[in-house]
Amino acid sequence: MKLPDVQWHQRQSLKEVVAALDGEHGMVRFVGGAVRDTLLGLAVSDIDLATILKPENVMARLKDAGIKVIPTGIDHGTVTAVTEDGPVEITTLRRDVSTDGRRATVAFSDDWKEDAARRDFTINALFADPETLEVYDYFDGLSDLEKCHIRFIGSAEQRIAEDHLRIMRYFRFLARFGQHAVDQETFNACRKAAPELSKLSRERVADELMKLLSPADPVYAVQEMIEADVFANIVAEIDSNAGQILAALVLREEAYDIAPDPVRRLVGLLPKDIDKAAEIAVGLRFSKKLQRAVADRLMVLKPTVSDIPAIAYRQGADAARDIVLLFASDDELQVSLSKLEGWIKPVFPITGGDLIAMGLKAGPIVAESLKVVEAAWIAEGFPDEHRVRALASAAVKRH
Ligand code: ATP
Ligand code: MG
Repeated sequence: MKLPDVQWHQRQSLKEVVAALDGEHGMVRFVGGAVRDTLLGLAVSDIDLATILKPENVMARLKDAGIKVIPTGIDHGTVTAVTEDGPVEITTLRRDVSTDGRRATVAFSDDWKEDAARRDFTINALFADPETLEVYDYFDGLSDLEKCHIRFIGSAEQRIAEDHLRIMRYFRFLARFGQHAVDQETFNACRKAAPELSKLSRERVADELMKLLSPADPVYAVQEMIEADVFANIVAEIDSNAGQILAALVLREEAYDIAPDPVRRLVGLLPKDIDKAAEIAVGLRFSKKLQRAVADRLMVLKPTVSDIPAIAYRQGADAARDIVLLFASDDELQVSLSKLEGWIKPVFPITGGDLIAMGLKAGPIVAESLKVVEAAWIAEGFPDEHRVRALASAAVKRH
């Protein structure tokens, strides 16, 4: 079995990394998502490499080849080559010596099968040689891939006990590739260990959560997560209603051919209360930008058609579209979305200087008045400059 010779594999920058690591002599193989997704005919975003070379040797070779390299997780054998086409993660073959559910002590290895065995799912443990493109499959990953079967290598219970984040990863891959079926043993193992999720770093959990909300239809996986008490241990506010809400949102996305978006989906799951949602976003250690994105999508919970331009102006067209998808009534959905087609943010046509020229005294009153005029301009649906000047002059006269 060979990997099809796809475009990502032809990237010059990747060839340079492989050459620096002696790919010609079998020192390095593609692994993980790049191999799995290529075999499924899907686009590949990030590239993971596995290598026999020790991390210091990997660092030195890349530096010598003039490739920027970051020791991202060098204690666990992972370094990142920074190329013009994006990062390439390179991990030395290893086995886990001891694990406590959160972190592992590792020993480096030169045995490909041993490295495959420490990986989570059979479909994630496929290697491909960068020269010959030969695929190496030590745990029947290819047949699981064909069946869309997300199967732990070894006992689910044991593999989850080693690393509790694998619960999140299980549901992530189930959302992305799984058939609408979980096997009972794996589900039980996830439910049993779910309380342990509260002990993991929020960043890691949040990262997996956002990834699992990204595929076209994560509804089944989310419903199973609710059943398995996963949410109760990561975001307790997400309750059993969440599955239905998400299902309705996904249907709307599909009906209007709008690309999935994890922030939109998350907002669908969260309480419809901006303060509570903000607290959760902080708790998940979201970036300021992501916190803002969540808050923006909860600004208007009952949007009507006439609100849409104002929402788009204030929160941006993306947030407005998400608000419509999340909260518009069935009757107004289509026309609300149509308001956003080709949306270009109007430019507020006057400045503080204009107000002063109209007779307003310089000072804090200028910014305040400008806000009042802008609010009136938004409420009137962005009339032209002539009308804005009339609104401005009325505001100036009031002082
Ligand atoms: P994606 O396409 O989302 O990047 P991926 O399978 O490449 O999916 P990564 O998180 O990039 O996922 O991890 C790369 C590979 O490392 C996985 O395919 C898997 O083999 C291994 N891996 C990552 N995290 C774990 C884990 N917690 N336990 C075991 N193996 C893991
Ligand atoms: Mg990856």
